[in-house]
Amino acid sequence: MVAIIVHGGAGTIRKEERIPKVIEGVREAVLAGWGELKRGSALDAVEEAVKALEDNPLFNAGTGSVLTLDGRVEMDAAIMRGKTLEAGAVAGIWGVKNPISVARKVMEKTDHVLLIGDGAVKFARLLGFPEYDPVTEERLRQWEELRKKLLEKGETRYWKKLNELIREYPELLRSTVGAVAFDGDEVVAGTSTGGVFLKVFGRVGDTPIIGGGTYANEVAGASCTGLGEVAIKLALAKSATDFVRLGMDAQGASDAAISLATRYFGKDTMGIIMVDSKGNIGLAKNTRHMSHAFMREGMKEPEAGV
Ligand code: ASP
Repeated sequence: MVAIIVHGGAGTIRKEERIPKVIEGVREAVLAGWGELKRGSALDAVEEAVKALEDNPLFNAGTGSVLTLDGRVEMDAAIMRGKTLEAGAVAGIWGVKNPISVARKVMEKTDHVLLIGDGAVKFARLLGFPEYDPVTEERLRQWEELRKKLLEKGETRYWKKLNELIREYPELLRSTVGAVAFDGDEVVAGTSTGGVFLKVFGRVGDTPIIGGGTYANEVAGASCTGLGEVAIKLALAKSATDFVRLGMDAQGASDAAISLATRYFGKDTMGIIMVDSKGNIGLAKNTRHMSHAFMREGMKEPEAGV
């Protein structure tokens, strides 16, 4: 039973009129992944689905990534194969179009799991990824607005209150993207993000942390979205796959993972998507929205929503 699910990030979509466009974005991405899945590879499916979302400026990954406190783009991405536990990730990378593809190269071409900053950019150039500027006009404008608002209130000094800040300004969390697929043989998970708006330079979220925001093994795969610090502290993606190992299906495990996040860190913090190695799909969130789309064998059209 082959299956794929994608997410376009957890949070609150304040402008209702954006919702149809966001749904169209996740639908297109799941179909891009589905095409690869039909050709037989969950790995290609996850990369293609995430690339489609990275290339869509509505989402906070690749083109349209959010900006750090000092106005730079620092992107994170990871991909992991469940059968072999091979994994590749980049953190704080800039100047490339598709961080997920660089992460895949880290997995395939090096003995390492995670490359950061300058090193990640150098590695990408060595492998032929051309220079690309992912900053969009809209993100620049939002950055200026948010920065002004927060600096006027002096709240960015209290970075540990990010949790509370996000409750007050849900727009700080912006639509990270992810995909999980099962091709009948293995589960693969991938996630990509620009991180959280106004993050402190150098901050790395859960996305490229294997076990934090991205994880896959022989029983299931998971991709998280939301406040990265929460997923890291709970090793949430790995914990979610442990729930499957203990007997839950992908939906049960997703619910359990989000309950855990809510119990420790409250609502409005996390979302997760999963696929298990029986081809079951799971999704859960404690935020108002989490755009998503999925497709399983036997379905004619993807199911998509927020
Ligand atoms: N999890 C991402 C991070 O903390 C943000 C998000 O999912 O919106 O970097």
